[in-house]
Amino acid sequence: MTFDYDLFVIGGGSGGVRAARVAAQGGASVALAEQSRYGGTCVIRGCVPKKLMVYASEFPGAMQDAQSYGWTVHAGGFDWPKFRSTMATELDRLEGVYRNLLKNSNVSTYDARATVADAHTVTLSTGERFTAKHILIAAGGTPVRPDLPGAEHGIVSDDIFDLETLPRSILVVGGGYIACEFACILNGLGVDVTQYYRGEQILRGFDGEARGLVSEEMIDNGVDLHLGTNILDITPERGGYVVKSTKGTEKWFEKVFFATGRNPNTAGLGLEQTGVQLGRYGQVEVNEYSQTAVPSIYAIGDVTDRVNLTPVAIREGMAFVETVFGGNPTPVDHDLIPTAIFTQPEIGTVGLSEEDAREIEPVEIYCTSFKPMKEAFAGRSNRVLMKLVVSQKTRRVMGCHIVAPGAGEMIQMVGIAVKMGATKEDFDRVCAVHPTMAEELVTMRAPVRTS
Ligand code: NDP
Repeated sequence: MTFDYDLFVIGGGSGGVRAARVAAQGGASVALAEQSRYGGTCVIRGCVPKKLMVYASEFPGAMQDAQSYGWTVHAGGFDWPKFRSTMATELDRLEGVYRNLLKNSNVSTYDARATVADAHTVTLSTGERFTAKHILIAAGGTPVRPDLPGAEHGIVSDDIFDLETLPRSILVVGGGYIACEFACILNGLGVDVTQYYRGEQILRGFDGEARGLVSEEMIDNGVDLHLGTNILDITPERGGYVVKSTKGTEKWFEKVFFATGRNPNTAGLGLEQTGVQLGRYGQVEVNEYSQTAVPSIYAIGDVTDRVNLTPVAIREGMAFVETVFGGNPTPVDHDLIPTAIFTQPEIGTVGLSEEDAREIEPVEIYCTSFKPMKEAFAGRSNRVLMKLVVSQKTRRVMGCHIVAPGAGEMIQMVGIAVKMGATKEDFDRVCAVHPTMAEELVTMRAPVRTS
Protein backbone atom coordinates (compact mmCIF):
# COMPACT_ATOMS: atom_id res chain seq x y z
CA MET A 1 0.00 0.00 0.00
CA THR A 2 1.33 3.46 -0.85
CA PHE A 3 0.68 6.51 1.29
CA ASP A 4 0.72 10.24 0.61
CA TYR A 5 3.25 10.69 3.43
CA ASP A 6 5.45 8.55 5.65
CA LEU A 7 4.39 10.67 8.63
CA PHE A 8 1.51 13.05 9.33
CA VAL A 9 1.96 15.12 12.49
CA ILE A 10 -1.07 16.76 14.13
CA GLY A 11 0.08 19.79 16.12
CA GLY A 12 2.85 22.33 15.51
CA GLY A 13 4.10 22.81 19.08
CA SER A 14 7.58 22.04 20.39
CA GLY A 15 7.15 18.24 20.26
CA GLY A 16 5.36 18.02 16.91
CA VAL A 17 7.70 20.40 15.11
CA ARG A 18 10.82 18.62 16.41
CA ALA A 19 9.54 15.17 15.42
CA ALA A 20 8.45 16.37 11.96
CA ARG A 21 11.73 18.13 11.31
CA VAL A 22 14.02 15.32 12.45
CA ALA A 23 12.01 12.66 10.59
CA ALA A 24 12.11 14.76 7.40
CA GLN A 25 15.84 15.42 7.75
CA GLY A 26 16.29 11.65 7.91
CA GLY A 27 14.61 11.28 4.52
CA ALA A 28 10.96 10.64 5.43
CA SER A 29 8.16 12.49 3.61
CA VAL A 30 6.40 14.43 6.33
CA ALA A 31 3.33 16.67 6.67
CA LEU A 32 2.20 18.69 9.68
CA ALA A 33 -1.12 20.38 10.41
CA GLU A 34 -1.55 23.20 12.93
CA GLN A 35 -4.92 24.84 13.58
CA SER A 36 -3.56 27.88 15.41
CA ARG A 37 -0.03 29.29 15.56
CA TYR A 38 3.28 27.45 15.03
CA GLY A 39 5.29 27.03 18.22
CA GLY A 40 2.27 25.89 20.23
CA THR A 41 1.69 26.52 23.91
CA CYS A 42 5.35 26.99 24.87
CA VAL A 43 6.20 29.66 22.31
CA ILE A 44 2.87 31.42 21.80
CA ARG A 45 0.96 31.21 25.11
CA GLY A 46 3.22 29.57 27.66
CA CYS A 47 6.88 29.35 28.66
CA VAL A 48 8.29 32.05 26.36
CA PRO A 49 5.86 34.97 26.93
CA LYS A 50 5.60 33.91 30.60
CA LYS A 51 9.38 34.20 31.05
CA LEU A 52 9.37 37.61 29.32
CA MET A 53 6.71 38.69 31.80
CA VAL A 54 8.82 37.32 34.67
CA TYR A 55 11.69 39.53 33.49
CA ALA A 56 9.38 42.55 33.20
CA SER A 57 8.00 41.99 36.68
CA GLU A 58 11.43 41.77 38.33
CA PHE A 59 12.43 45.36 37.50
CA PRO A 60 10.63 47.14 40.37
CA GLY A 61 12.59 45.03 42.90
CA ALA A 62 15.83 45.52 40.96
CA MET A 63 15.27 49.29 40.89
CA GLN A 64 14.65 49.33 44.62
CA ASP A 65 17.85 47.36 45.20
CA ALA A 66 19.75 49.69 42.88
CA GLN A 67 19.07 52.56 45.30
CA SER A 68 20.68 50.55 48.12
CA TYR A 69 23.71 50.02 45.88
CA GLY A 70 24.13 53.76 45.50
CA TRP A 71 22.27 54.45 42.28
CA THR A 72 19.75 57.20 41.93
CA VAL A 73 16.90 55.56 40.08
CA HIS A 74 13.70 57.26 39.03
CA ALA A 75 11.21 54.53 38.19
CA GLY A 76 8.39 55.60 35.94
CA GLY A 77 5.21 53.58 35.54
CA PHE A 78 5.00 50.28 33.70
CA ASP A 79 3.71 50.64 30.15
CA TRP A 80 1.83 47.36 29.62
CA PRO A 81 0.62 48.11 26.04
CA LYS A 82 4.20 48.94 25.00
CA PHE A 83 5.61 45.77 26.60
CA ARG A 84 2.77 43.64 25.19
CA SER A 85 3.36 44.95 21.71
CA THR A 86 7.14 44.25 21.89
CA MET A 87 6.35 40.79 23.24
CA ALA A 88 3.89 40.17 20.37
CA THR A 89 6.58 41.14 17.84
CA GLU A 90 9.01 38.71 19.47
CA LEU A 91 6.44 35.89 19.38
CA ASP A 92 5.75 36.63 15.68
CA ARG A 93 9.49 36.34 15.05
CA LEU A 94 9.68 33.01 16.88
CA GLU A 95 6.65 31.66 15.04
CA GLY A 96 8.42 32.58 11.82
CA VAL A 97 11.49 30.65 12.98
CA TYR A 98 9.34 27.55 13.59
CA ARG A 99 7.70 27.85 10.17
CA ASN A 100 11.11 28.21 8.52
CA LEU A 101 12.52 25.21 10.34
CA LEU A 102 9.73 23.11 8.86
CA LYS A 103 10.04 24.65 5.40
CA ASN A 104 13.81 24.19 5.28
CA SER A 105 13.37 20.53 6.28
CA ASN A 106 10.86 20.02 3.43
CA VAL A 107 7.92 19.34 5.75
CA SER A 108 4.58 20.12 4.05
CA THR A 109 2.56 22.34 6.39
CA TYR A 110 -1.20 22.80 6.50
CA ASP A 111 -2.74 25.69 8.45
CA ALA A 112 -5.85 23.71 9.30
CA ARG A 113 -7.47 21.56 11.95
CA ALA A 114 -6.77 17.88 11.41
CA THR A 115 -8.82 14.93 12.60
CA VAL A 116 -8.05 11.24 12.40
CA ALA A 117 -10.36 9.30 10.05
CA ASP A 118 -8.72 5.88 10.41
CA ALA A 119 -5.40 4.24 11.28
CA HIS A 120 -3.72 5.79 8.22
CA THR A 121 -5.94 8.71 7.21
CA VAL A 122 -6.13 12.34 8.30
CA THR A 123 -8.88 14.77 7.28
CA LEU A 124 -8.33 18.52 7.29
CA SER A 125 -10.81 21.34 7.96
CA THR A 126 -10.04 22.50 4.39
CA GLY A 127 -11.73 19.32 3.13
CA GLU A 128 -8.42 17.73 2.08
CA ARG A 129 -7.67 14.13 3.01
CA PHE A 130 -4.26 12.49 3.28
CA THR A 131 -2.97 9.02 4.00
CA ALA A 132 0.17 8.38 6.03
CA LYS A 133 2.10 5.31 7.09
CA HIS A 134 2.34 6.81 10.59
CA ILE A 135 0.29 9.45 12.37
CA LEU A 136 1.75 11.39 15.30
CA ILE A 137 -0.66 13.16 17.66
CA ALA A 138 1.07 16.17 19.25
CA ALA A 139 -2.02 18.29 19.84
CA GLY A 140 -1.06 19.57 23.32
CA GLY A 141 -3.40 20.66 26.08
CA THR A 142 -5.71 23.46 26.99
CA PRO A 143 -6.51 25.29 30.27
CA VAL A 144 -9.65 24.16 32.10
CA ARG A 145 -12.08 26.21 34.21
CA PRO A 146 -13.74 24.57 37.20
CA ASP A 147 -17.45 23.79 36.91
CA LEU A 148 -19.05 26.52 39.03
CA PRO A 149 -21.61 29.30 38.53
CA GLY A 150 -20.07 32.25 36.66
CA ALA A 151 -16.85 30.39 35.73
CA GLU A 152 -17.18 31.70 32.17
CA HIS A 153 -16.31 35.20 33.49
CA GLY A 154 -12.83 34.07 34.54
CA ILE A 155 -9.80 34.28 32.27
CA VAL A 156 -7.22 31.49 31.78
CA SER A 157 -3.50 31.56 30.97
CA ASP A 158 -4.18 31.73 27.20
CA ASP A 159 -5.88 35.12 27.74
CA ILE A 160 -3.33 36.78 29.99
CA PHE A 161 -0.86 37.78 27.29
CA ASP A 162 -3.48 39.68 25.29
CA LEU A 163 -5.11 41.76 28.03
CA GLU A 164 -5.86 45.29 26.77
CA THR A 165 -5.00 46.74 30.17
CA LEU A 166 -3.57 45.28 33.35
CA PRO A 167 -6.29 45.02 36.01
CA ARG A 168 -5.89 46.86 39.30
CA SER A 169 -6.83 43.73 41.20
CA ILE A 170 -6.98 40.04 40.34
CA LEU A 171 -7.93 36.79 42.04
CA VAL A 172 -5.72 33.87 41.00
CA VAL A 173 -7.38 30.50 41.62
CA GLY A 174 -5.13 27.42 41.99
CA GLY A 175 -1.83 26.51 43.59
CA GLY A 176 0.12 24.85 40.78
CA TYR A 177 2.91 26.08 38.48
CA ILE A 178 0.78 28.52 36.52
CA ALA A 179 -1.12 29.99 39.48
CA CYS A 180 2.04 30.64 41.51
CA GLU A 181 4.09 31.95 38.62
CA PHE A 182 1.41 34.42 37.55
CA ALA A 183 0.60 35.49 41.11
CA CYS A 184 4.27 36.57 41.36
CA ILE A 185 4.41 38.12 37.88
CA LEU A 186 1.24 40.18 38.30
CA ASN A 187 2.27 41.21 41.81
CA GLY A 188 5.61 42.41 40.42
CA LEU A 189 3.83 44.38 37.70
CA GLY A 190 1.87 46.27 40.34
CA VAL A 191 -1.44 44.40 40.25
CA ASP A 192 -3.11 43.82 43.62
CA VAL A 193 -2.99 39.97 43.72
CA THR A 194 -5.10 37.64 45.85
CA GLN A 195 -4.61 33.86 45.47
CA TYR A 196 -7.02 31.15 46.61
CA TYR A 197 -5.70 27.60 46.87
CA ARG A 198 -7.93 24.80 48.09
CA GLY A 199 -5.13 22.69 49.65
CA GLU A 200 -2.90 23.12 52.70
CA GLN A 201 0.13 24.42 50.86
CA ILE A 202 0.81 25.59 47.29
CA LEU A 203 2.78 23.51 44.76
CA ARG A 204 1.53 20.10 45.80
CA GLY A 205 4.03 17.34 45.04
CA PHE A 206 7.16 19.47 45.43
CA ASP A 207 9.48 19.35 48.46
CA GLY A 208 7.69 20.53 51.62
CA GLU A 209 10.39 22.91 52.82
CA ALA A 210 10.79 24.44 49.37
CA ARG A 211 7.02 24.97 49.06
CA GLY A 212 6.91 26.51 52.52
CA LEU A 213 9.66 29.01 51.76
CA VAL A 214 8.21 30.05 48.40
CA SER A 215 4.81 30.59 49.96
CA GLU A 216 6.33 32.73 52.77
CA GLU A 217 8.31 34.78 50.27
CA MET A 218 5.27 35.28 48.03
CA ILE A 219 3.29 36.57 51.01
CA ASP A 220 6.23 38.81 52.04
CA ASN A 221 6.36 40.21 48.52
CA GLY A 222 2.71 41.19 48.72
CA VAL A 223 0.63 38.28 47.36
CA ASP A 224 -2.49 37.90 49.52
CA LEU A 225 -2.41 34.09 49.64
CA HIS A 226 -5.33 32.20 51.18
CA LEU A 227 -4.77 28.48 51.74
CA GLY A 228 -7.62 26.03 52.28
CA THR A 229 -9.82 28.39 50.29
CA ASN A 230 -11.76 27.80 47.10
CA ILE A 231 -14.21 29.75 45.03
CA LEU A 232 -17.97 29.06 45.05
CA ASP A 233 -19.34 31.43 42.43
CA ILE A 234 -18.64 34.58 40.43
CA THR A 235 -21.11 37.41 39.78
CA PRO A 236 -20.36 40.39 37.51
CA GLU A 237 -20.61 43.70 39.38
CA ARG A 238 -19.25 47.25 39.02
CA GLY A 239 -17.03 46.44 36.06
CA GLY A 240 -15.49 43.49 37.89
CA TYR A 241 -16.65 40.40 39.77
CA VAL A 242 -17.86 39.53 43.23
CA VAL A 243 -16.44 36.17 44.29
CA LYS A 244 -17.93 34.03 47.03
CA SER A 245 -15.40 31.79 48.75
CA THR A 246 -15.70 28.57 50.74
CA LYS A 247 -14.57 30.61 53.76
CA GLY A 248 -17.83 32.59 53.56
CA THR A 249 -16.23 35.79 52.24
CA GLU A 250 -17.49 37.93 49.34
CA LYS A 251 -14.84 40.06 47.66
CA TRP A 252 -14.69 42.22 44.54
CA PHE A 253 -11.91 41.72 41.99
CA GLU A 254 -11.44 43.38 38.64
CA LYS A 255 -10.47 40.04 37.11
CA VAL A 256 -10.56 36.37 38.10
CA PHE A 257 -7.84 34.10 36.68
CA PHE A 258 -8.31 30.33 36.71
CA ALA A 259 -5.03 28.39 36.81
CA THR A 260 -6.79 25.17 37.70
CA GLY A 261 -5.02 22.71 35.43
CA ARG A 262 -4.93 21.74 31.78
CA ASN A 263 -6.62 18.97 29.82
CA PRO A 264 -5.30 17.12 26.76
CA ASN A 265 -6.64 18.38 23.41
CA THR A 266 -8.32 15.22 22.19
CA ALA A 267 -11.99 16.26 21.98
CA GLY A 268 -13.28 15.80 18.44
CA LEU A 269 -9.97 14.44 17.11
CA GLY A 270 -11.68 11.22 16.02
CA LEU A 271 -9.31 9.00 17.99
CA GLU A 272 -11.82 6.82 19.82
CA GLN A 273 -13.39 5.49 16.61
CA THR A 274 -9.97 4.31 15.38
CA GLY A 275 -9.37 2.23 18.51
CA VAL A 276 -6.94 4.62 20.26
CA GLN A 277 -7.49 4.41 24.04
CA LEU A 278 -8.13 7.63 25.94
CA GLY A 279 -7.74 8.05 29.70
CA ARG A 280 -9.99 9.74 32.25
CA TYR A 281 -8.97 13.26 31.27
CA GLY A 282 -8.96 12.51 27.55
CA GLN A 283 -5.21 11.82 27.47
CA VAL A 284 -3.95 9.48 24.75
CA GLU A 285 -2.79 6.23 26.34
CA VAL A 286 0.62 5.21 24.99
CA ASN A 287 3.34 2.68 25.77
CA GLU A 288 6.98 3.48 26.56
CA TYR A 289 7.62 4.12 22.84
CA SER A 290 4.72 6.63 22.66
CA GLN A 291 2.74 4.13 20.59
CA THR A 292 -1.06 3.92 21.00
CA ALA A 293 -3.24 0.80 20.83
CA VAL A 294 -3.37 1.41 17.05
CA PRO A 295 0.16 0.46 15.88
CA SER A 296 0.42 3.20 13.21
CA ILE A 297 -0.65 6.01 15.58
CA TYR A 298 1.74 7.53 18.11
CA ALA A 299 1.33 10.46 20.53
CA ILE A 300 3.77 12.73 22.34
CA GLY A 301 3.73 15.75 24.66
CA ASP A 302 0.92 17.17 26.80
CA VAL A 303 -1.74 15.25 24.85
CA THR A 304 -0.44 12.11 26.61
CA ASP A 305 -0.38 13.78 30.05
CA ARG A 306 2.84 12.11 31.18
CA VAL A 307 5.23 14.87 32.26
CA ASN A 308 3.83 18.09 30.79
CA LEU A 309 6.99 20.03 30.05
CA THR A 310 8.35 21.33 26.73
CA PRO A 311 11.76 19.61 26.91
CA VAL A 312 10.02 16.32 27.70
CA ALA A 313 7.75 16.64 24.63
CA ILE A 314 10.85 17.31 22.52
CA ARG A 315 12.62 14.23 23.89
CA GLU A 316 9.49 12.14 23.30
CA GLY A 317 9.47 13.42 19.70
CA MET A 318 13.13 12.50 19.21
CA ALA A 319 12.62 9.03 20.73
CA PHE A 320 9.60 8.50 18.44
CA VAL A 321 11.66 9.31 15.33
CA GLU A 322 14.51 7.06 16.47
CA THR A 323 12.05 4.22 17.14
CA VAL A 324 9.97 4.49 13.95
CA PHE A 325 12.39 5.89 11.37
CA GLY A 326 15.78 5.01 12.88
CA GLY A 327 14.99 1.32 13.38
CA ASN A 328 16.19 1.65 16.97
CA PRO A 329 13.36 1.19 19.51
CA THR A 330 14.02 3.94 22.08
CA PRO A 331 11.89 4.19 25.22
CA VAL A 332 11.41 7.64 26.70
CA ASP A 333 13.36 8.22 29.91
CA HIS A 334 11.09 10.12 32.31
CA ASP A 335 13.35 9.63 35.32
CA LEU A 336 15.10 12.51 37.15
CA ILE A 337 13.82 15.39 35.06
CA PRO A 338 15.12 18.71 36.41
CA THR A 339 12.54 21.48 36.37
CA ALA A 340 12.06 25.07 37.47
CA ILE A 341 9.09 27.03 38.69
CA PHE A 342 9.49 30.71 37.87
CA THR A 343 8.01 32.09 41.03
CA GLN A 344 9.84 34.88 42.88
CA PRO A 345 12.02 33.36 44.24
CA GLU A 346 12.36 30.52 41.75
CA ILE A 347 12.37 26.82 42.61
CA GLY A 348 14.80 24.52 40.85
CA THR A 349 14.29 20.87 41.59
CA VAL A 350 15.43 17.42 40.48
CA GLY A 351 14.63 14.00 41.92
CA LEU A 352 12.58 13.13 44.96
CA SER A 353 11.20 15.43 47.62
CA GLU A 354 12.23 14.66 51.20
CA GLU A 355 8.70 13.37 51.86
CA ASP A 356 8.70 10.98 48.87
CA ALA A 357 12.26 9.75 49.44
CA ARG A 358 11.56 8.97 53.10
CA GLU A 359 8.72 6.67 52.00
CA ILE A 360 11.21 4.63 49.98
CA GLU A 361 14.29 4.31 52.21
CA PRO A 362 16.18 5.90 55.11
CA VAL A 363 17.60 9.28 54.10
CA GLU A 364 19.90 12.04 55.35
CA ILE A 365 18.81 15.63 54.79
CA TYR A 366 21.38 18.36 54.17
CA CYS A 367 19.74 21.75 54.16
CA THR A 368 20.61 25.38 54.67
CA SER A 369 18.55 28.54 54.43
CA PHE A 370 20.15 31.97 54.49
CA LYS A 371 19.93 35.58 53.34
CA PRO A 372 21.87 35.88 50.09
CA MET A 373 24.59 38.54 49.98
CA LYS A 374 23.08 40.63 47.18
CA GLU A 375 19.64 40.96 48.78
CA ALA A 376 20.95 41.24 52.36
CA PHE A 377 23.11 44.22 51.32
CA ALA A 378 20.01 45.85 49.85
CA GLY A 379 18.28 45.47 53.20
CA ARG A 380 15.87 42.74 52.12
CA SER A 381 14.84 39.94 54.42
CA ASN A 382 14.54 37.31 51.64
CA ARG A 383 15.98 33.89 52.30
CA VAL A 384 17.13 31.16 49.93
CA LEU A 385 17.21 27.38 50.42
CA MET A 386 19.70 24.72 49.31
CA LYS A 387 18.75 21.14 50.07
CA LEU A 388 20.04 17.66 49.30
CA VAL A 389 18.16 14.45 49.99
CA VAL A 390 20.71 11.63 50.34
CA SER A 391 20.21 7.86 50.52
CA GLN A 392 21.75 6.49 53.72
CA LYS A 393 22.49 3.19 52.01
CA THR A 394 23.89 4.13 48.59
CA ARG A 395 24.95 7.71 49.52
CA ARG A 396 23.39 8.82 46.20
CA VAL A 397 21.77 12.23 46.01
CA MET A 398 18.12 11.32 45.48
CA GLY A 399 16.84 14.88 45.28
CA CYS A 400 18.09 18.46 45.13
CA HIS A 401 15.83 21.43 45.84
CA ILE A 402 16.88 25.04 45.43
CA VAL A 403 14.79 28.11 46.21
CA ALA A 404 16.73 31.16 45.08
CA PRO A 405 16.98 33.76 42.33
CA GLY A 406 18.41 31.85 39.35
CA ALA A 407 17.49 28.43 40.78
CA GLY A 408 16.39 27.31 37.30
CA GLU A 409 19.87 27.94 35.93
CA MET A 410 21.52 26.17 38.89
CA ILE A 411 19.37 23.03 38.78
CA GLN A 412 20.22 22.39 35.13
CA MET A 413 23.83 21.73 36.19
CA VAL A 414 22.95 19.81 39.36
CA GLY A 415 20.66 17.68 37.19
CA ILE A 416 23.68 16.30 35.32
CA ALA A 417 25.34 15.14 38.54
CA VAL A 418 22.15 13.64 39.96
CA LYS A 419 21.36 11.87 36.68
CA MET A 420 24.89 10.43 36.69
CA GLY A 421 24.23 8.98 40.13
CA ALA A 422 26.47 11.33 42.12
CA THR A 423 26.83 10.59 45.83
CA LYS A 424 26.98 13.14 48.63
CA GLU A 425 30.72 12.48 48.77
CA ASP A 426 31.01 13.33 45.05
CA PHE A 427 29.36 16.68 45.80
CA ASP A 428 31.81 17.16 48.72
CA ARG A 429 34.82 16.52 46.46
CA VAL A 430 33.91 19.53 44.31
CA CYS A 431 35.55 22.83 45.21
CA ALA A 432 33.18 25.68 46.03
CA VAL A 433 32.74 28.62 43.66
CA HIS A 434 33.00 31.62 45.95
CA PRO A 435 31.11 33.83 46.67
CA THR A 436 27.95 32.29 45.24
CA MET A 437 24.72 30.93 46.69
CA ALA A 438 25.16 27.52 45.03
CA GLU A 439 28.49 26.90 46.80
CA GLU A 440 26.42 25.77 49.78
CA LEU A 441 25.53 22.65 47.78
CA VAL A 442 29.11 21.39 48.11
CA THR A 443 29.88 22.68 51.61
CA MET A 444 27.09 21.20 53.76
CA ARG A 445 28.99 18.89 56.13
CA ALA A 446 26.47 17.46 58.63
CA PRO A 447 22.91 16.32 57.99
CA VAL A 448 20.20 18.44 59.64
CA ARG A 449 18.16 15.29 60.19
CA THR A 450 18.04 11.62 59.32
CA SER A 451 14.98 9.48 58.95
P1 NDP B 1 -1.35 22.09 37.92
O1 NDP B 1 -1.96 20.77 37.73
O2 NDP B 1 0.09 22.22 38.23
O3 NDP B 1 -2.15 22.90 39.03
C1 NDP B 1 -3.54 23.03 39.01
C2 NDP B 1 -3.94 23.70 40.30
O4 NDP B 1 -5.31 23.99 40.28
C3 NDP B 1 -3.68 22.82 41.52
O5 NDP B 1 -3.25 23.65 42.57
C4 NDP B 1 -5.05 22.23 41.80
O6 NDP B 1 -5.26 21.92 43.16
C5 NDP B 1 -5.94 23.38 41.40
N1 NDP B 1 -7.27 22.95 40.99
C6 NDP B 1 -7.60 21.98 40.11
N2 NDP B 1 -8.94 21.88 39.97
C7 NDP B 1 -9.47 22.84 40.77
C8 NDP B 1 -10.79 23.22 41.08
N3 NDP B 1 -11.85 22.63 40.53
N4 NDP B 1 -10.97 24.23 41.97
C9 NDP B 1 -9.91 24.83 42.56
N5 NDP B 1 -8.63 24.50 42.31
C10 NDP B 1 -8.41 23.50 41.42
O7 NDP B 1 -1.73 22.85 36.58
P2 NDP B 1 -1.26 24.22 35.96
O8 NDP B 1 -2.43 24.68 35.19
O9 NDP B 1 -0.66 25.12 36.97
O10 NDP B 1 -0.10 23.77 34.99
C11 NDP B 1 -0.30 22.72 34.04
C12 NDP B 1 1.00 22.05 33.69
O11 NDP B 1 1.77 22.90 32.88
C13 NDP B 1 1.87 21.74 34.91
O12 NDP B 1 1.57 20.52 35.48
C14 NDP B 1 3.25 21.77 34.32
O13 NDP B 1 3.58 20.49 33.91
C15 NDP B 1 3.14 22.70 33.13
N6 NDP B 1 3.80 23.99 33.42
C16 NDP B 1 5.14 24.02 33.67
C17 NDP B 1 5.78 25.21 33.95
C18 NDP B 1 7.24 25.22 34.24
O14 NDP B 1 7.92 24.26 33.92
N7 NDP B 1 7.78 26.25 34.87
C19 NDP B 1 5.05 26.47 34.00
C20 NDP B 1 3.65 26.33 33.75
C21 NDP B 1 3.06 25.13 33.47
P3 NDP B 1 -4.74 20.53 43.81
O15 NDP B 1 -3.28 20.71 44.09
O16 NDP B 1 -5.54 20.45 45.07
O17 NDP B 1 -5.06 19.46 42.84
